[in-house]
Amino acid sequence: MTDKATHSPEPWNFCGHKRGGCSCGQIWSTPADCPVASVTSGEWGDSYPVIRIVNKDESASASRAFELVLKADTERIDYGSIPEDVAKANMRRIVACVNACKGVSTYDLEQGRLTAKT
Ligand SMILES: [Zn+2]
Repeated sequence: MTDKATHSPEPWNFCGHKRGGCSCGQIWSTPADCPVASVTSGEWGDSYPVIRIVNKDESASASRAFELVLKADTERIDYGSIPEDVAKANMRRIVACVNACKGVSTYDLEQGRLTAKT
């Protein structure tokens, strides 16, 4: 992979960094004044759309019981939970690593080379 696209400029910081972090989990590029990532906390999993077949009217008589409708809905597979203190530690870690690597190309990082350009 090449470094044709550049990442948002450092320094990055996380929302609420002056008070230990915010529960929103957003990480920002300060010079670009834009979010670059959101750290997950709490329950997490994958949501996906489903179509449910439901009775049009639950109280319908037996003769109308077969009047069914399709209803769009969402289901979710839960994988676990990330405590908020762990999420805040993750935000700090990501921001510290990005800022410490300022000047090192992403390609060099991917190759395990941590020498800053001069
Ligand atoms: Zn926030």
